[in-house]
Amino acid sequence: MTEIRHGVFDIRIDKNYCKACGLCVAWCPQDVLAEDEELYPITPGLQNCINCKLCELHCPDFAIEILPPEHPEHSKYKEAN
Ligand code: SF4
Ligand code: SF4
Repeated sequence: MTEIRHGVFDIRIDKNYCKACGLCVAWCPQDVLAEDEELYPITPGLQNCINCKLCELHCPDFAIEILPPEHPEHSKYKEAN
């Protein structure tokens, strides 16, 4: 059985690559993502991310990445180290 973990993932969006196309927002099944006033993705529903990676897979510019807690750039990992 696959374990689905809520509230443990960070999301990194690289605005150097993001072109504010909205695809990641449209594909997210959990309403994690929304658009800011310039149409760049933001993460108001971060706690609901299930790490399905649909956002990553559909981003044409590799601009969005889901970080698990064990990733060195995850906020909780940084806090603990
Ligand atoms: S991994 Fe899935 S649930 Fe999380 S933000 Fe991306 S599309 Fe949404
Ligand atoms: S799909 Fe990629 S390029 Fe498009 S808004 Fe999302 S992060 Fe930016």
